Amino acid sequence: MRVIVIGGGIGGLALAAGLRRHGVDVAVHERDTDLSATGGYHITLDGNAQAALAELVAPDVLERLLASASAVRLREPDVFWDHLGRELGQGRVKGNDASVDVDRITLRLLLAEAAGDSLTLGRTCTGFERGPDGTVTAAFQDGASADGDLLVGADGAHSVVARRLAGGPTHRATGLVGVSGRTPADRLDADGLRRLGPRSGLAVGPYGTALYVGFLDPVGRAVLDAPHLRASVTTGPTYIWGAMFPEAAGPSAPRALPGPRLRDATLDLLRRRGWGPRPLDVVERSEAEDVAYYRFNAATTDPRRMAPWPAGTATALGDAVHATPPTAGMGAGAAIRDAARLVREIVEVRAGRKAAAVAVGDFEADMRERGAAVVALALRTVHGVLATDTRLGAPLTRAALPLLAGAAALRGRRTAAADG
Ligand SMILES: Cc1cc2nc3c(=O)[nH]c(=O)nc-3n(C[C@H](O)[C@H](O)[C@H](O)COP(=O)(O)OP(=O)(O)OC[C@H]3O[C@@H](n4cnc5c(N)ncnc54)[C@H](O)[C@@H]3O)c2cc1C
Repeated sequence: MRVIVIGGGIGGLALAAGLRRHGVDVAVHERDTDLSATGGYHITLDGNAQAALAELVAPDVLERLLASASAVRLREPDVFWDHLGRELGQGRVKGNDASVDVDRITLRLLLAEAAGDSLTLGRTCTGFERGPDGTVTAAFQDGASADGDLLVGADGAHSVVARRLAGGPTHRATGLVGVSGRTPADRLDADGLRRLGPRSGLAVGPYGTALYVGFLDPVGRAVLDAPHLRASVTTGPTYIWGAMFPEAAGPSAPRALPGPRLRDATLDLLRRRGWGPRPLDVVERSEAEDVAYYRFNAATTDPRRMAPWPAGTATALGDAVHATPPTAGMGAGAAIRDAARLVREIVEVRAGRKAAAVAVGDFEADMRERGAAVVALALRTVHGVLATDTRLGAPLTRAALPLLAGAAALRGRRTAAADG
């Protein structure tokens, strides 16, 4: 059995790695030409995603990945602020959280290594055809083609493969967009460092604005104490921030703006919407060249409408099927879990225990349920942020934030008095 994978992002490479481990013939075609030069900040992998990875890659690759990851359990509880930097409350203690954070590029490079020579770079898929003999043929921009018994579209939210299978787009824009960047902790002053702390946080403001600040430290808070195995791109404590605002309020042609101008436009937008200097400090001090713009796309939350095609010789996984806004931090984990399930099914087919169409159908049924749940979770935050920009939500938010900040300050004073 030969499997053709379109897209060497997280899901496609995880699938190829798993198939190779089982001796299945696989070829991945990725349009990027240099994996280390592709974007992205940190990826969160929960316990389920790590268990799926353990099925897909050899133990030494998983060990290097964990040695390059930052342990969520070693962070302090998350914190919530308002747009003026006033604390609104804290999240739960992280002690039992099995999740890890890893650079997107580090994860991608390690998966590419596991995918080995099955990966071809610089190949952009333009479409595919099914032959009368049951084979499927992918066509590429450079005129090349590739044949297989199964074609898997792992080509992300704007998937050529899934769009063709579904007969139209598989996601819609949510109306919220993000601008992300990274700020090494040593760029902050003592006050900024104390305020942010070794924890992640979310600042909420009025008019559909919010600022996520994630804490990544694959060195000081490594999951595995194995410095000789470390491959992380991030080499010191770093804040990964993501500003969110309604697409209509953003700069025009944001993708064409160089990083420094995109960062300045974001700061300007947030200031005009009432944000104070303290929460914006981490944005101002970021590495401006790395600042990037993202549209928050989301697939349907109805599993019956997800992957709406009959099971056959072409399928898709990951963001191609269940495009997920980054607000749940679960998109990559969901793609990895898809890959693990599809590998299990293909192994059954190869062993003669299942017919191919049944195996692909079982994979898709499982993916629909899990994918729709992840999209729904991510949309909760998106809808919450957008609700602060409605006719009712805007004045309510403006009234509620100072009250919440006052209550949090009072709680803090009572705790301090009780402590001593
Ligand atoms: C540049 C980038 C940065 C990201 N940064 C973050 C981040 O910081 N944090 C986070 O949580 N999530 C991030 N994501 C999203 C996250 O990586 C995905 O949600 C998750 O990995 C889903 O995996 P996937 O394999 O389905 O899609 P992706 O990882 O997006 O991979 C899809 C791959 O398909 C390739 N491709 C697309 N079209 C074609 C084609 N026609 N022919 C051949 N190849 C094609 C793309 O180049 C890409 O490598 C980012 C995604 C991208 C593309």
